[in-house]
Amino acid sequence: MTAAAERPLVVKVGGSAGVDVDAVCDDVAALWQGGRAVVLVHGGSERTNQVATALGHPPRFVTSPSGHTSRYTDAETMEVFLMVYCGAVNKRIVERLQRRGVGAVGLSGLDGRILEGRHKRSVRSVEAGKTRVLHGDHTGTVERVNGALLQLLLDAGHLPVLTPPAASVEGVAINVDGDRAAAAVAAALGASDLVILSNVPGLLADLHDEASLIPAVARSGVEAAIAHAGGRMKKKLLGAAEAIDGGVGRVVIGDARIASPITAALAGRGTVIA
Ligand code: ADP
Repeated sequence: MTAAAERPLVVKVGGSAGVDVDAVCDDVAALWQGGRAVVLVHGGSERTNQVATALGHPPRFVTSPSGHTSRYTDAETMEVFLMVYCGAVNKRIVERLQRRGVGAVGLSGLDGRILEGRHKRSVRSVEAGKTRVLHGDHTGTVERVNGALLQLLLDAGHLPVLTPPAASVEGVAINVDGDRAAAAVAAALGASDLVILSNVPGLLADLHDEASLIPAVARSGVEAAIAHAGGRMKKKLLGAAEAIDGGVGRVVIGDARIASPITAALAGRGTVIA
């Protein structure tokens, strides 16, 4: 069977401290060389925070009334976001994969409108118990994926390395959540698995105790898990639910600090949502 004939694997890797990008690339290369069709989606939040701070425009995060935290992406932040996500982070991952002999092609959601969504220009932010509306935001949620373009690349033996931003319907760059974008990509491609890697072993019952890993969450239990989880773990669970609802066979939230992190996740190490 050729790589293109089987259901692809979508891997999302975050950009938080502790993530072993080399281990992820080693594993991606081994899977790809074994004939597996893979799409790698990445973030770059931590680097964006560092660069934005160095440029005198420190990041600003807002918490919505429903408790979700997101980056307030004004015009200046989007400039930094484009430099870091589409520049340094994407190209360094492509470079790493090229060095391992992988036919990696770096793309943002803007390229070929791979990720498209509606532009949300304002965001509600809860600050000191009060809800404020912040304007000038460049964010959105992925509503459409150009799966045909990704499939074209996979069929030709390439490995797409995809990063936010997405394109708005009007063609403006918008910041979208990487986990949910990866879920939309996995659904569009009919992926067998979506592996979401970050700097924790998976969903933890107690954030301060890595031994409290929750090994499995049923689709019907995801909403309760979202209510329990904090910070960015909520988005990963939301993405997991969206992927499963979109027809993806299985989602594993796994650890990107270990050797062979993708193989381990596919073997069930992490939190499995199916
Ligand atoms: P990314 O990998 O996309 O950059 P993060 O690393 O920010 O995303 O997301 C994972 C983070 O979610 C962990 O570092 C952790 O601090 C946070 N988190 C909050 N609640 C939980 C939980 N219950 N289990 C695991 N992680 C949690």
